[in-house]
Amino acid sequence: MTKFQDLGLKEEILKGIREMGYEDAFPIQEAVIPVLLTGRDVVGQAHTGSGKTAAFALAMLQEIQPKKGIQGLVMAPTRELAMQITGEIKKFGKYTGIRVATVYGGQGMGLQLDALDRGVEIVVATPGRLIDHLKRGSIELGDITHIVLDEADTMLDMGFVDDIQFILDLAPEERVMSLFSATMPTEILRLSEEYLKNPKQFLLDADDLSGEGIDQAFLVIKDRDKMKYLMDFIKPVKGQIIVFCSTKYRTRDVAKYLHQEKFDAVAIEGDMSQSRREQSMSKFRTGKVDILVATDVASRGIDVPRVELVVNYDVPNQELAYFHRIGRTARAGAKGRAITLVSYSSVGDWNLIKRQIKVNLTDLNKEMGIEISIPDPLKRQVPSRRYGGSQSRTGYSRSSRSGGYGRSGGYGGSSRGDARDDRSGGRKKYGDRGGKNSYGGRSRW
Ligand code: AMP
Repeated sequence: MTKFQDLGLKEEILKGIREMGYEDAFPIQEAVIPVLLTGRDVVGQAHTGSGKTAAFALAMLQEIQPKKGIQGLVMAPTRELAMQITGEIKKFGKYTGIRVATVYGGQGMGLQLDALDRGVEIVVATPGRLIDHLKRGSIELGDITHIVLDEADTMLDMGFVDDIQFILDLAPEERVMSLFSATMPTEILRLSEEYLKNPKQFLLDADDLSGEGIDQAFLVIKDRDKMKYLMDFIKPVKGQIIVFCSTKYRTRDVAKYLHQEKFDAVAIEGDMSQSRREQSMSKFRTGKVDILVATDVASRGIDVPRVELVVNYDVPNQELAYFHRIGRTARAGAKGRAITLVSYSSVGDWNLIKRQIKVNLTDLNKEMGIEISIPDPLKRQVPSRRYGGSQSRTGYSRSSRSGGYGRSGGYGGSSRGDARDDRSGGRKKYGDRGGKNSYGGRSRW
């Protein structure tokens, strides 16, 4: 284990680190900090939870000088993550005299302009709002020496690629840059080839996708029975819980129901105002409430160290979302549990995800003796001639389209019982900027 003082960090920074209670550097910090300090670019495959924030923040704080203009720029996909990064940098940098501002869409310009006017050395930004500031001249990139792209794959998914390129093209050529991403699709590699100079690559949590350290289980049940089982699962839990739903409507319904049942729950979903989302997040983070019900908006980048259980109330729409969701538990080496409730119509999607899970997965149907009674699609198919053209009896039409339970990826296919939140469902493609929103900095999630 490497101690932070062995990394050559300044005493002011070490003091901040000590105050945060960190003792040893995490592997990502041990690996990345010395490289960034030599001025070499870094590409790190790492997810939140690995300690990457400290890795890039400490290297930046070591080099940046107070009162010499904006020298550090961190880009992050969501306002929540941006605020979290700012919070960490402020704590590490408490004794350095370095000031940090967060700029993100959804908050009035006034507060951000005031903060910028007072003078800052580091800006943490979501790309859309940063462009607004660049265009009005409230932020200039001429003195930038350090750039970080955090959660680069999420930024691509959210359609920020053009914005990022626009921003990077404005920054000085001479700079140290790091890019962190949970996955490394070709688009990220292309971006890193174009904008990073001979970066040192780190595959820091290659086993992230295995969900190591997380007890994972699933239960196949009727959609209407989910609430009952959810309550059974959450009742005995002492620590904090996140319940993920696929749509904002379900998020609201589940939170409301839990409230009625006297659980301390808050929701966070895309339709809520920025301040209400922040309120929910802060109640959860500070432990005032035990349960957070959320769409995928909260699954990435948000660090709540004590989450004991993640319940996927709905099967996520793709494997990565699954691993991001369950990754909210078992943080920083702690143990965690994840339970996925699979409605009959989502069995096909679940089978696709299941194939990617490389650790023991508990089948709760077997363990709890709960039978799966998916109607046989062949039996329920009603001959159309005899019944005047009807293809199937009411309620069966969706599942009868696509085969039966157990056929890998077959049942249900991409059709699902649950309506999707347009903004959280479906992976956006590289280059899809989501229209004007990318510049407007308005909420996409
Ligand atoms: P991150 O991946 O940056 O979101 O960090 C994940 C969690 O690990 C956060 O709660 C950090 O505060 C914590 N953390 C990061 N580095 C260390 C360290 N060296 N020692 C203890 N905790 C740390």
